[in-house]
Amino acid sequence: MHAAFEPATVPPGDIARRLDGWTEVFSRYGYHSTRRFLREEAGWDEASVQAAGTLENITSRLHYSLVPTLIDHALINPANRYWELEGGTDTLTTALAAPLAAELRMGRRMTRLSQSAAGVRIETVGESGDEESCDGAPDGRTEVFEGDYALVTIPFSALRFCRIEPLMSYPKRRAVTELHYDSATKVLLEFKRRFWEDGPNGFTGGGCVSDSASRFTYFPSHAPGGAPGGVVLASYTWSDDAMRWDSLTPGERYAFALDDLERLFGPQVRREFTGVGVTQSWARARYALGEAVIPTPGQLHELHPAAGRPEGRVHFAGEHTSLKPAWIEGALESAVRTFLELQAR
Ligand SMILES: Cc1cc2nc3c(=O)[nH]c(=O)nc-3n(C[C@H](O)[C@H](O)[C@H](O)COP(=O)(O)OP(=O)(O)OC[C@H]3O[C@@H](n4cnc5c(N)ncnc54)[C@H](O)[C@@H]3O)c2cc1C
Repeated sequence: MHAAFEPATVPPGDIARRLDGWTEVFSRYGYHSTRRFLREEAGWDEASVQAAGTLENITSRLHYSLVPTLIDHALINPANRYWELEGGTDTLTTALAAPLAAELRMGRRMTRLSQSAAGVRIETVGESGDEESCDGAPDGRTEVFEGDYALVTIPFSALRFCRIEPLMSYPKRRAVTELHYDSATKVLLEFKRRFWEDGPNGFTGGGCVSDSASRFTYFPSHAPGGAPGGVVLASYTWSDDAMRWDSLTPGERYAFALDDLERLFGPQVRREFTGVGVTQSWARARYALGEAVIPTPGQLHELHPAAGRPEGRVHFAGEHTSLKPAWIEGALESAVRTFLELQAR
């Protein structure tokens, strides 16, 4: 962390006021899309909605529920204070997992879950291979895990492909089938020199948004070990914007992202490109099967209550079971909830 963490001090009564506020938002606007709210409640004209869509990169998400848009707006705000985990976000999960190293079994896909009055049985197959390509064939070795209870944390988009016996309740099956998983795709390009830092208008870090196919572009905040080069997140897209990229080969994605960057920074972009790129589509990733849950209007009312509810001896955690879906905080909240549920049993 760069700064010592100071817990936020919340004035007395403020939490109750905030809870009341969010309850009001959920009950009044749970069936509103962002577009419907802006047009009908806020009274915006079509051009203003389109401008906000372009400048906030939410054009492709205007038809989703208003609630996640409001949550994003509250969290991604220049007035908020952020801390950086030096070395990357996975330093936290790696550190948490270290004491459990002997117990953790990686590289196994759950394929079947059955339960009886006596306990839970989970069948897995061993797998390896790249997330996005189809070369990660199962190794054919089935391994079974048995226990009194199970805590299932895989995305519902992945649970859809597991055999579950006996059938779960109808509301839970609806949540697994219907909760909307969005698409997200990134294209990263490597450059010999951080040319964007040059001259009086040069800058370090930050990002920009445009109405090109690339939409969001982000620049590195750190120089890697004093090296002159850097990696740019040339394109970061969501929803329909992302699905356009998903149809392209990796090579085509690099070429189009480079074209868009050239429009912003001129011919130096091509001169400085090392020829190396990396791209990831979460809709095509075999263990994600989508970015995360971004609910459509009404889904928080109709599907959320069942999403986190236990089914017999099986409990469910993950961002998709929380009221902050698509945020790490939602996944952590669900971890606390399920810890308390299981501890009580
Ligand atoms: C592009 C992108 C940007 C994001 N940006 C942010 C951000 O800025 N801030 C933020 O807070 N959140 C962000 N998120 C969301 C955040 O990453 C998720 O909310 C969080 O990772 C969810 O944690 P989880 O444990 O619920 O699920 P996951 O982290 O998705 O973990 C689920 C695990 O289940 C495994 N799995 C899948 N199927 C099976 C199976 N059949 N058997 C066994 N294992 C299986 C997967 O391999 C995976 O490891 C972003 C997500 C994406 C995709």
